[in-house]
Amino acid sequence: MLKNIFKSIFCIILVALMITAISVPCFAAEKVIVNQGVITIGKVSGNTGDTVIVPITIEDNPGIIAITISITYDSSALQLIEDLPGNVIFAHEIQDHPSKNLIRLVTLESLDRKNNGTLISLKFKIKPKTKAGLTKISIKYGSGDFCNWKLHRIMPEIIPGGVDVGLSEDNCPHKNYSDWTVAAIPTCLESGYDSRTCNDCGHVELRNNSPIGHEFSKDFTIDKAATKEESGLMSRHCIRCAEFVDQISYTLKDSTEGDIKNEFGNVAPPNDYVNNLVAEQIEPESSPEVSSSETGKNNSSEVESSVSDSPNTQTENNPTTSETEEVTVKDKILEAFPKGKIILIIFIIAIIILIIALLI
Ligand SMILES: [Zn+2]
Ligand SMILES: [Zn+2]
Repeated sequence: MLKNIFKSIFCIILVALMITAISVPCFAAEKVIVNQGVITIGKVSGNTGDTVIVPITIEDNPGIIAITISITYDSSALQLIEDLPGNVIFAHEIQDHPSKNLIRLVTLESLDRKNNGTLISLKFKIKPKTKAGLTKISIKYGSGDFCNWKLHRIMPEIIPGGVDVGLSEDNCPHKNYSDWTVAAIPTCLESGYDSRTCNDCGHVELRNNSPIGHEFSKDFTIDKAATKEESGLMSRHCIRCAEFVDQISYTLKDSTEGDIKNEFGNVAPPNDYVNNLVAEQIEPESSPEVSSSETGKNNSSEVESSVSDSPNTQTENNPTTSETEEVTVKDKILEAFPKGKIILIIFIIAIIILIIALLI
């Protein structure tokens, strides 16, 4: 009986010692050896969205049998995808703790591993919108977290590294734009664009420019020269496009008396004679149109008016939609209470009233 109790206590102590040995491999280590080794975390570059591999290497390896360390990183910038084996240690376990910004690494070999090389490589994805610049990766450890088979504590030098995140459209604050330049000139009726470029990442921003409207010349241009048989035509042309207004006809006699150079394409400055022809031929109603089309601003109002036409058509459509809604409501009522049912209900109510009346 006593023997069994003693056996059980011994087993419990043995298991406790084993657990302690695995979790803190060098807890019992006393001697600190001279050659500590150097562990370097690689420095790699990438842009947001990229996947990068960060190697963790060891030089001047004093011989290590066990490691229990924390690899620190910024989980808001990097996401651990997987761990890749190196050529120094055979067996390792890792556990990612993004909420604590660290990855636990535990290794346990059967004998000291003495060669230099890669301990482990970590594959990360650079998260979107990560700020440009170095996001640091390092190692945090305490005394006894590295040891050799003699349980000597090893305190290697740690050279931090990380991921140098490049500047791209995804993470650039766009605070260094060039001046606006014309990318596409606006025309009388079509919009144009200005553009500017971010000097840091090359992002291009566009700005819409409204159409500038027609600008009609005060001078008249001969559209068709007059002959003995046929009248000529002249009008005021837009200085930018082929649009024209105030087209009037004139005869050979008019050209002589009004000092109009009767030749196709010739420009005729307005004079009293021409103004009279305009007054005779252009209806007063259309004259505001003529004056309004003289400036670009007024022309843009033409565009606006054409736009405002569309809501009118919409309002015309509205009654039809409300009608259809009414129809559907009626249909629903009829569906819920068919005519036959309503008559039946009225009939039943009438009988009940009759019975009550007879009873009274
Ligand atoms: Zn930018
Ligand atoms: Zn024009």
